[in-house]
Amino acid sequence: MSEVKDAAKRPMKRVPKKKVCVFCVEKTDEADYKDVAKLKRFITEKGKLMPKRMTGTCAKHQRVIAEAVKRARIMALLPFKGE
Ligand SMILES: [Zn+2]
Repeated sequence: MSEVKDAAKRPMKRVPKKKVCVFCVEKTDEADYKDVAKLKRFITEKGKLMPKRMTGTCAKHQRVIAEAVKRARIMALLPFKGE
């Protein structure tokens, strides 16, 4: 009788899908700023960077994406937010 019932304690019930970092899956450590199609998966339609909670990207690669997105914006490949 040592069962820990901590599942019942959790108010957060929504566990949709187990998301996994695509960069870890692909074993890539770099995001190409020219690869707009890929980067667009990590930004909202308004051009904002998606939180890693939504994309499942790990902290390490989230930074990589952020860098690539910034670069892509400068290169005018992606819009700045607010558009
Ligand atoms: Zn990763």
